[in-house]
Amino acid sequence: AAKGIPGTASLHFTPDMARAGTDHAHLGAELREAIDDGQLYLLYQPIVALPDRRVLGAEALVRWAHPTHGTMPPRTFLPVAERTGLIVPLSRWVLRAAVRQLADWTATHGADAPAVLNINVSPRDLREPEFAAEVAALLDEYGIEPHRITLELTESMPGDPGESATTLTALRSLGVRVSLDDFGTGHSTLTMLHDCPIDQLKLDGSVTRAERAPMAATVLRLADSLGLQTIAEGVETPDQAELLHELGYRTAQGFLFARPLSPAEFGELLTSAAAA
Ligand code: C2E
Ligand code: MG
Ligand code: MG
Ligand code: MG
Repeated sequence: AAKGIPGTASLHFTPDMARAGTDHAHLGAELREAIDDGQLYLLYQPIVALPDRRVLGAEALVRWAHPTHGTMPPRTFLPVAERTGLIVPLSRWVLRAAVRQLADWTATHGADAPAVLNINVSPRDLREPEFAAEVAALLDEYGIEPHRITLELTESMPGDPGESATTLTALRSLGVRVSLDDFGTGHSTLTMLHDCPIDQLKLDGSVTRAERAPMAATVLRLADSLGLQTIAEGVETPDQAELLHELGYRTAQGFLFARPLSPAEFGELLTSAAAA
């Protein structure tokens, strides 16, 4: 209960918390190694058109092949990365791996390669003064046109939008697109949406469930009026997809269409889509 109140944390300090603290420090050290030793890898979840499910793009999602704990999902290590600042080298690794993959798919599949790759970044990354320049250099190195990359920022992350705005503006003037992730779960205000230099809204899965259809409809109208693209995420059932389509959503992502796939699985999907 004392969490967040300076000076009171020790009142409720228990041996369990001490152990948890040690584990976090330990995990941080392991994560540093993981980034350097190639233990991270990316899965790619298709982003599809409604209703025909044509693959329009993909979202890169990080995993950690931990030497003893097995595969670790991002929720187990991203909070540690955020707290320790390791998110900056982690994001650098993710960006390079993802852009390289897009270049590989483009070389192999040509026009059937995903048109756009969405990559998650942290508000912390945007506070790096050289971030936009690094992204530009990376795209140049792999010969990827900036409009083929969308950077996703989650709405529920703390971070000063003002401070990030300079970087967002620089990225967008390169042609890179910016997406506000998990919309409907966080603290975005209408003013922020209006003022923030973004191109796309990702409607969170919790809002795309049928009982919240009025919200999903309102968000779409809002996005349209601000000139923002939309992606409905977390689509799990045919009913949900049908409803979203009826409401006017044209782009979606979710287990109904495909789970996050390995690069090989994604490649097979592209090959079979091209053959069909
Ligand atoms: P996100 O960016 O909102 O990504 C979507 C998450 O929802 C993914 O979880 C995905 O596997 C999951 N998902 C996809 N379709 C469905 C569905 O139909 N139903 C449900 N229930 N879930 C679905 P994942 O991969 O565990 O990632 C969790 C979060 O971790 C991401 O949420 C994102 O915020 C963060 N994350 C993932 N990869 C990266 C990364 O490379 N860098 C950064 N900074 N954050 C990342
Ligand atoms: Mg995302
Ligand atoms: Mg999301
Ligand atoms: Mg989400």
